[in-house]
Amino acid sequence: MDLTLLYRGPLASCDYDCPYCPFAKRRDSRDQLRADRAALDRFTAWVHEQRDDRISVLFTPWGEGLVRSWYRRALVELSRAPGVGRVAIQTNLSCRTEWLGEADRDTVALWCTYHPGQTPYQRFLGKTRDLAAAGIRFSVGVVGLPGHLEHARRLRADLPEHIYLWINAAEDHSYTDAEAADWTAVDPLFPFSRDPHHSLGRACRTGASVLSVDGDGTVHRCHFVKEPLGNLYDGSYREALRPRPCPRTLCDCHIGYVHLETLPLYDVFAGGVLERIPAPGIRHEPVALPLPKFPIASGT
Ligand code: SF4
Ligand code: SF4
Repeated sequence: MDLTLLYRGPLASCDYDCPYCPFAKRRDSRDQLRADRAALDRFTAWVHEQRDDRISVLFTPWGEGLVRSWYRRALVELSRAPGVGRVAIQTNLSCRTEWLGEADRDTVALWCTYHPGQTPYQRFLGKTRDLAAAGIRFSVGVVGLPGHLEHARRLRADLPEHIYLWINAAEDHSYTDAEAADWTAVDPLFPFSRDPHHSLGRACRTGASVLSVDGDGTVHRCHFVKEPLGNLYDGSYREALRPRPCPRTLCDCHIGYVHLETLPLYDVFAGGVLERIPAPGIRHEPVALPLPKFPIASGT
């Protein structure tokens, strides 16, 4: 079967300090880093051993993974592993990029976020150009805060045309129609992100073909539903795999709602669901797609 794993180990440190960071960052001690490395190695070895499934992996660390050698190595190794369809990571792209030359370019991908104020613009842009020149699959995004709009416009203008620039609605931030129109002009798919999606009772692929895995191997259906389904390493997760409706009222994070069966996002991002790269023909649409709208005030 096709199995998608969202891996989030204990790593929580980051080389940036974004004021809007959604995570409780910390400085990882040497022991914590050692534990994170061991957990990642165990996960990587498990993926290598799988024979019956085609596995795709998205690393979604609390902090920044690619400044750690073990995440870079995991990306390279898993990209070359038979049976791995895609391996991607969310990153601020502060790391060097030449190590990606060892990875299988058909399999490896990056989900990059530009954080204005944390890195010089030209440095970030230069890295995206290096990735594009090396033929690495990646998307780039910006958090849709008012002060980021000009940065996002500039980045859209400077990025290679074929690179998708996504905009994430800022947490706890609502957008007037005029503001949303500004962001949609940068990212035609912004309407999917603008408001949280009503998800309670709706069919979601998580728990059946998509799973969240932590450093101990504890499996949840997604990062947002706390009830565990079992453990990866003792195989107990396996018998829990089945379609089940979402138990939460709202799903407001792309790495969650992209898996909702009631949204068309597996078609929109066909071939690039994990790294958030739209299917050819969709990313250059100049106006908003007609979207199913789920106003927060409505029922499920
Ligand atoms: S780069 Fe990401 S993890 Fe790091 S501080 Fe910024 S938002 Fe938080
Ligand atoms: S809709 Fe979101 S919160 Fe609900 S199960 Fe799916 S990923 Fe989890």
